[in-house]
Amino acid sequence: MTFDSLGLAAPLLKAIADAGYTAPTPIQAQAIPAVLQGGDLLAGAQTGTGKTAGFTLPLLHRLSATPPVKNARGKHMVRALVLTPTRELAAQVEESVKTYGKYLPLTSMVMFGGVGMQPQVNRLRDGVDILVATPGRLLDHHMQGTLDLSKIEILVLDEADRMLDMGFIHDIKKVLAILPPKRQNLLFSATFSDDIKALADRLLNQPALIEV
Ligand code: AMP
Repeated sequence: MTFDSLGLAAPLLKAIADAGYTAPTPIQAQAIPAVLQGGDLLAGAQTGTGKTAGFTLPLLHRLSATPPVKNARGKHMVRALVLTPTRELAAQVEESVKTYGKYLPLTSMVMFGGVGMQPQVNRLRDGVDILVATPGRLLDHHMQGTLDLSKIEILVLDEADRMLDMGFIHDIKKVLAILPPKRQNLLFSATFSDDIKALADRLLNQPALIEV
């Protein structure tokens, strides 16, 4: 199996080659074609399996296949949202988005709490295609009116089990309520408790199932 056979755009294959990856990991081999098809996905995957590239690469491919959505000031509006349980994971995922998306005209931003709001507001104002965030700070921006989530096409919940363990279920439900209903949803979790299954039932529409 090679990356070339998965259907990813040339700028992504170039970034993958730069990263030195020669073959997709098992989760990537399954998740990339499934996400490229546009449907929802429920994936069981631990850290270290390559899951981040498993959702980041097809997400970048899909966004790059259509023109950016611009606001009244001509700035890019957020079309993909990745929620993570921690700042560290958010920063790591956004780093991956930048690495794999370096040959695409898409911009990303990481947003988490514990730091000032204003620099984040300024960054949002410049335009962002892909937002990686922890749930609390995302809601702060939404309530403050500094973040427009009305153009979200793809939602990723990364390490969803950890998000529930950390008590984020209410925040997640609030986020879901403000997103446009027609979108692609990807849920990644290392474990599948009853709570995760309930969240998956609520969030996902006939998902492809992947377990590695
Ligand atoms: P993750 O499970 O997403 O945290 O990724 C674990 C590590 O595997 C990261 O350091 C990636 O850079 C690396 N990685 C991801 N995909 C591949 C691949 N196809 N070949 C080699 N390394 C990879």
